[in-house]
Amino acid sequence: MTVSPTLVWFREDFRLADNQALHEAVQRGQPLICLFILDETTLMGAAAQWWLDGAIHALAADLRAKGGDLHVLRGPAQSVVETVVQATGAGAVFWNRRYDPHGRETDTGIKAALQGQGVVARSFAGALLHEPWTVRTQSGSPYKIFTAFWRAACTLPVQAFLRPAPEKLVFAAPVPALEALRVPPEQYGLLPTTPDWAGGLRETWVPGEAQACAQLADFCQYDQADYAQTRDFPAKESTSGLSPFLRFGHVSPARVWESAQARPNPEKFLTELGWRDFAWSLLFETPDLASRNLRPEFDAMPWRTDPKGLAAWQHGQTGYPLVDAGMRELWHTGVMHNRVRMVVASFLVKHLLIDWREGERWFADTLVDYDPASNPMNWQWGAGTGVDAAPYFRIMNPVLQSRKFDPQGAYIRSWVPEIAHLSDKDIHTPWETGCRGYVAPIVDHAMARARALAAWKAL
Ligand SMILES: Cc1cc2nc3c(=O)[nH]c(=O)nc-3n(C[C@H](O)[C@H](O)[C@H](O)COP(=O)(O)OP(=O)(O)OC[C@H]3O[C@@H](n4cnc5c(N)ncnc54)[C@H](O)[C@@H]3O)c2cc1C
Repeated sequence: MTVSPTLVWFREDFRLADNQALHEAVQRGQPLICLFILDETTLMGAAAQWWLDGAIHALAADLRAKGGDLHVLRGPAQSVVETVVQATGAGAVFWNRRYDPHGRETDTGIKAALQGQGVVARSFAGALLHEPWTVRTQSGSPYKIFTAFWRAACTLPVQAFLRPAPEKLVFAAPVPALEALRVPPEQYGLLPTTPDWAGGLRETWVPGEAQACAQLADFCQYDQADYAQTRDFPAKESTSGLSPFLRFGHVSPARVWESAQARPNPEKFLTELGWRDFAWSLLFETPDLASRNLRPEFDAMPWRTDPKGLAAWQHGQTGYPLVDAGMRELWHTGVMHNRVRMVVASFLVKHLLIDWREGERWFADTLVDYDPASNPMNWQWGAGTGVDAAPYFRIMNPVLQSRKFDPQGAYIRSWVPEIAHLSDKDIHTPWETGCRGYVAPIVDHAMARARALAAWKAL
């Protein structure tokens, strides 16, 4: 029998279980070549790049445990794939789909080119609960409002490809021409070096499929009713912490869905997974989601240029404890609690009147769970510029949010040690206590609120 290996191209699906491309490749009955390509799509934000490095290593280790390896090559995706196909005589290339505009365009081009060369090219679902083009109104147009989207999505079956990791994988014999192209791990160029600021990320996270499964199992031990009640309280740590694992495909949303559904009261949590799908369906229809106000009237918004204010926000030095706690948590761990993300986003856009795109860019650089759909959708939601957004005039008061969602100041204490000694009551307004050693508020709430409303009304 002629050997015509199957190339499995991993991209944002760093897992062996529930991986349809890998599974179908095994079914094809030919030896495998597993590939990851370092190209312009892997030039993401710095924190996400840190995660990507860990994801590549974890997948490579999992493949080595099965007797194979991950070939990591560098270059434009199409030319790398074609080079590998030529060097190895691969007869088929399989991958799981991605949905960002650049990725889709690249993949369409590669599929056509491979098919033109007589090579089988097949792509599979696996990153979302529903393919973005499947949840549609009766007239076939995309939903713009989440509740309507989710109602419709819930009537459709989840695309659940659930299989354990293949027990046995058969790998192609090494091909010298391909071995010569491999990028050694120390040359991936994904980790920060000067300086190495990733200590907090290393303390917080272990990228990989094993950790994703452990985290999911841990989360599913608890009654989901508790999640619904406490998910807004950052000190409670009652959310799943799965976002970076979902982002890099260490676990599939279908697996998360199945596991959560098996527990009592899963509705609220499943709805949050729905927001993730909604974001991707929005990006699918709106490729410029990160750069264009979905409400065009905001194009005339008189955003302020305020480098000092922006820097204070970025570094957690605004003088508002909940905002500063969130921004410091982000800097240290690469994530921030969802409620606090909402508060800091509102603060930047409304209290400082700085364009939401500045915040989106900062989050893109610092979040390990950054994705090009959820991040801009949530920023547009918070800024009031999105289609299904909170109205601009709803301005979050950072002190009231702090009192409501961190009443004992436990979250604030863990990130803003300068004021940890203050009482539960005073910790939300340290400026009223004459407390030294912590920055005074960079902007007065009442003034900022009035300024934001005036700017919005003048639109
Ligand atoms: C300004 C802003 C920017 C954000 N940027 C991102 C981002 O780049 N990437 C990202 O994954 N999430 C983003 N979120 C959404 C949300 O904050 C995170 O998904 C959540 O905090 C992750 O924690 P968790 O996994 O414990 O969530 P859980 O509460 O356990 O939720 C489960 C999963 O549902 C999904 N999810 C939950 N809320 C949302 C939401 N509002 N939008 C989209 N998906 C959601 C995530 O995949 C999450 O892992 C952003 C929110 C805001 C307000």
